[in-house]
Amino acid sequence: MKCAERTGDYTERETVDFVRPEVRSRLGSREASAVHLRNTYSRSLETFVPLTPGRVTMYTCGPTVYSFAHIGNFRSFLFADVLRRVLERRGLVVHQVMNITDVGHMTEDHLADATGEDKLAKAARELGSDPFAVAAHFESEFVRDATSLRLRIYQGGEANDRALHPRATEYVPQMLVMVKRLVDRGFAYLDTSGQVYFEIAKFPGYGALSGKQIDQLESGARVAVREEKRDPRDFALWKVDAKHLMQWDASEVGFGRGFPGWHIECSAMAKALLGDTIDIHTGGDDNIFPHHECELAQSCCADDITTPAPDGGAPRVTFARYWIHGRHLLVDGKKMSKRDGTFFTVRDLLVPSGDVAKKLATEGFTSGVPAAVLRLALISSHHGHQLNFTFDLLAQASATVTRLQSLYDRLRETAGDGPVAIEGLLAEHLSRFDAALDDDLDMPNALAAVIALVKALNVQQLGPGDSRAALAALEGIDHVLDVLDRSPRSGKVATARIAELADGDADALLAGELDATAIERLVGLRQAAKKRKDFTAADQIRSGLRARGIELEDVADGVRWKRS
Ligand SMILES: [Zn+2]
Repeated sequence: MKCAERTGDYTERETVDFVRPEVRSRLGSREASAVHLRNTYSRSLETFVPLTPGRVTMYTCGPTVYSFAHIGNFRSFLFADVLRRVLERRGLVVHQVMNITDVGHMTEDHLADATGEDKLAKAARELGSDPFAVAAHFESEFVRDATSLRLRIYQGGEANDRALHPRATEYVPQMLVMVKRLVDRGFAYLDTSGQVYFEIAKFPGYGALSGKQIDQLESGARVAVREEKRDPRDFALWKVDAKHLMQWDASEVGFGRGFPGWHIECSAMAKALLGDTIDIHTGGDDNIFPHHECELAQSCCADDITTPAPDGGAPRVTFARYWIHGRHLLVDGKKMSKRDGTFFTVRDLLVPSGDVAKKLATEGFTSGVPAAVLRLALISSHHGHQLNFTFDLLAQASATVTRLQSLYDRLRETAGDGPVAIEGLLAEHLSRFDAALDDDLDMPNALAAVIALVKALNVQQLGPGDSRAALAALEGIDHVLDVLDRSPRSGKVATARIAELADGDADALLAGELDATAIERLVGLRQAAKKRKDFTAADQIRSGLRARGIELEDVADGVRWKRS
């Protein structure tokens, strides 16, 4: 495979270019074990200190589920995922919430008082469906992509915890309470239709996050500014539009029948699930204005929020203490474009077809891009810099994953008890890895440290104890990267157990993820087929496994399996 032959040293090349002089000088005098993050709010690098020692609250603006999420969306979700994992590596417990927007996100969302059509309603019209069905469909497709790309919030018990994946439509009562509070406190007002606006003149902090001057803001007057707005730049908290397909009764709080604005959704969900003040709020740079600026205004005015500045300065009016944003992604140096064939969803790359499949095949991806490779490619550059996504980047990421995986497999085979002579070598590389990540998630330098470690270990004579120690180091690194296949490479099913494993549909098992459990069930099904003398079915299972790189061997006391 062409891509596997590359050296994968792109991270080392980037190191030279990437390390900015101010970062270089800081590296010499860094505080031990402290994560530093560039806070959009202060526009400076700050030491991360959670409000509650040992625990972090984190809100990640999630997808609007009107279509498949594209790789640019996932770049943003993945940098938040890496940030979370880095904090966990530092021993912090992270309570992350990532919402699902299923109403109220308008097509013209560059204005605070967004105009246009609800993205869900538009998709429903185009698909000839209803918006709730569209949202449910694309939410489940999103979950599938997020699971493939190993977002931690979609792993284990967190995956099914609704309180970590709130849908906006399920928090309308909380939104109405918050909007009512803003009205009662004099920060918001109603028009005659019962639509509610936030009055920006009442909040002097408006513009502080994005750095926009209030008097330079676009008013949105292009179409027709509703005459009853006190200031054309005021934005709707609660919208009244008889034509909208999703409506909620709001008579209890005195508003018209309508639906929430996109911004109030995140304010209300963050408050309901994480409290008034949260540690970290993440999103893409296109969220800074208007979405996060408006969230900040609403949350602070509803609850008089001021928080201590992270570095001991004057208190700030900001409900999220650290606002961290990822830059957007380019493809082949340009904005993603459907017309140019440079617009990719996750599945366009994992399960490609047509021209994309042909182009990927020339880079060595004959059966699509492995999810771990796409994950690494999307996290490989600094989140604060534009990522230029190319097929060459995928090939380089593939080479890196291959090198890491083959070292990991070798270490796993040779690990055992014994003295450890490589402690110094491991410590040196791990401290480079951690120092880079602590420095505002400097992923290029972190990856350079990983590649250097792989090189160093590949030329060492490793005893069993060394292998065990190196394995632990690699697993620690992979807590952040999560690109390794850590499922067992081989196993044995004892004769006594085989009969009870004959459960399931062989074709479905062979089409799905072949973890150790699935393989054992297939071994059981094959044995059952042999017993009833259905040798065709038994052979089909064996060849199906072989096609997926798994060999079976019948031995005296059972069946052995091994991945090639
Ligand atoms: Zn949001």
